[in-house]
Amino acid sequence: MIYLSLGSNRGNRLSFLQQAVDLLKKRCLKNMTWSIILETECILPDGAPSEWNKPFLNMVVAGVSDLSPFFLLRELKQIEQELGRPEHYERWSPRVIDLDILLWDDLVLNNPSLTIPHPELDRRPFLGHLLTMMGVERKSHIPANCFLRSFTLFPRFVGIVNITPDSFSDGGLYNTADKAIKQALNLAANGASIIEIGAQSTRPGSVLQTPDEEYGKLEPVLDGLKNFMEKEEITVSVDTFWPEVIQKILSRYSVKWINDVRGSLDDRTLQYIARKNCHFVAMHSLGIPPQKDRLLPNDPSPVSSLIEWAQKMIGRLLSCGFEKSSIIIDPGIGFGKSAYQNIHILRTLIRLKSMDIKILIGHSRKSFIEAFSLEEAKMRDIETIAISDFLKNKVDFLRVHNVADHRRFFVAQQAIVNIG
Ligand code: ADP
Ligand code: MG
Repeated sequence: MIYLSLGSNRGNRLSFLQQAVDLLKKRCLKNMTWSIILETECILPDGAPSEWNKPFLNMVVAGVSDLSPFFLLRELKQIEQELGRPEHYERWSPRVIDLDILLWDDLVLNNPSLTIPHPELDRRPFLGHLLTMMGVERKSHIPANCFLRSFTLFPRFVGIVNITPDSFSDGGLYNTADKAIKQALNLAANGASIIEIGAQSTRPGSVLQTPDEEYGKLEPVLDGLKNFMEKEEITVSVDTFWPEVIQKILSRYSVKWINDVRGSLDDRTLQYIARKNCHFVAMHSLGIPPQKDRLLPNDPSPVSSLIEWAQKMIGRLLSCGFEKSSIIIDPGIGFGKSAYQNIHILRTLIRLKSMDIKILIGHSRKSFIEAFSLEEAKMRDIETIAISDFLKNKVDFLRVHNVADHRRFFVAQQAIVNIG
């Protein structure tokens, strides 16, 4: 068995680990399994510049390979470069990705360009810890303070920040720019791959904000996150359906996703979003804000109607210039569906996979949960997490309010299951 370590302490660290694992799976390792991710303090030599002192995310993957050790090392360096690590860099300086060979069965190799076991293995206690967790016997005790925080690669979370006074799920907790910025950074620190910011309340009965009102709320929050977006440390999605708001945002900020819940955007705006290389989330709804008696039919089944709608939508987006990989379909749980239909859609969601397109689900704290729980909206995280667990292999992104508790749940599960 071959064990590799992956580390990142620059840019969107989680995203670099996710991309590296995808490439390792395609090119280097078969029967791959992976560890949880540990955040650790940076280990630096004396006199290193203080800006190099950035915490790492680390993980270990295991698998088998037909490649020789030297060929594998070459492939690893190739992946490092493809993900943006320059060919020449100062040793110990922050890196978007570092891929090392830790162990290769019982092989002992001492070559100037390749040492196996990896020479730093014993100086990085978190690696011994992860290897022992994966079943390689090395340590008998958990090393003290060997990590700061733990994460998992999957599922990928979109964390929600509502800059609204009356959202059903958090009732205005983040209604000022300062609070919203703090919450966005908190979601990112807890492992949200994407931070979704919305200033429009879409709860039933809410009054829509004008483009100017909406932009006025978004602007100070985006200003506060600008630096992080430019350094690509966080990926921001904006939830808006006003063309003028989209134009302003994409001309001023490095926002990478637009989430349209209304489905009324004109081709020119869609083409503009595509030209900006922005991802686009198309959510199914039958009108915003939703109305209680405007529902999908039951025959054909709600999922069949959703597939038909999504196929049309994908065709239109492709003709407006989007790559297939930039399109994300959201069935719009809670928008134009009864509670029973929402449950039925979640249960049969696997059918959407046949479209071979990215799927996002926003089930968090929504009112269909009232079908089986009496908890008020903001107390529905346990129900949400149970459903996230059911959905985790069926969709690409889970849009949730409480990323921190999702992280804890999925880390515990992955630590015990220990498979990819
Ligand atoms: P780090 O020590 O932080 O991983 P680099 O990624 O820059 O630093 O590695 C420096 C060199 O270490 C690589 O160019 C590679 O030739 C060499 N090396 C020696 N043994 C290994 C190993 N087991 N895995 C990966 N690289 C290794
Ligand atoms: Mg290395």
